[in-house]
Amino acid sequence: METLKEKRDRVMLIYEVLDPLYTLDRTALKYRTPFELLISTILSAQCTDRQVNKVTAVLFEKYKGPEDFVNAPVESLEEDIRPTGFFKNKAKSIKGCCKGLLELYSGEVPATMEELLKLPGVGRKTANCVLGAAFDIPGVVVDTHVKRLAQRLGLTENINPDKIEKDIEDLLPEGKWRRFSDLMIYHGRAVCTARRPDHDRCAIIGLCPYNYV
Ligand code: SF4
Repeated sequence: METLKEKRDRVMLIYEVLDPLYTLDRTALKYRTPFELLISTILSAQCTDRQVNKVTAVLFEKYKGPEDFVNAPVESLEEDIRPTGFFKNKAKSIKGCCKGLLELYSGEVPATMEELLKLPGVGRKTANCVLGAAFDIPGVVVDTHVKRLAQRLGLTENINPDKIEKDIEDLLPEGKWRRFSDLMIYHGRAVCTARRPDHDRCAIIGLCPYNYV
């Protein structure tokens, strides 16, 4: 049975092996303000950053702030964000979120987890993305890749993303939380995919307890 110290050492090694491998994958959401990042993050669910950036390049010229999203007819917002997929749900989330921003925070994006979670359509994953990228506040972002890899790598026994977030945070120093999430995402996309993890090409195979035989 692996002790907590052994697990922490193993996670640091995973970090150190993966860190230099994923330096070029810099496609990231483009935004000029915390508000634009918040909207982009909502749009990025089940969609590539590249595709979101294409849509928001036009979207943010038309919708300048929360009022514009709240006042727009839902059908036209749906059309404007259609290429990001799940556009009906996303339009609903964006409208709810913008309404909450105006009612609770005078249209400003707040810089704490507690306040962000009061906004409709904003969960911990979105909040952590916004806090990390816009306000430099550390956090582990648990998306589908992070969840899968954390389980395969034996970093958690939980299936609830909020609990996985805490489990990973407990294993690494705060300053590495954000980058570790990104490394899990890159490795999950490139090698340890959901359907066919490519164990033979995996640089951390010696650090992974997953049953790959
Ligand atoms: S050894 Fe396999 S399961 Fe483990 S991280 Fe690598 S690809 Fe994923």
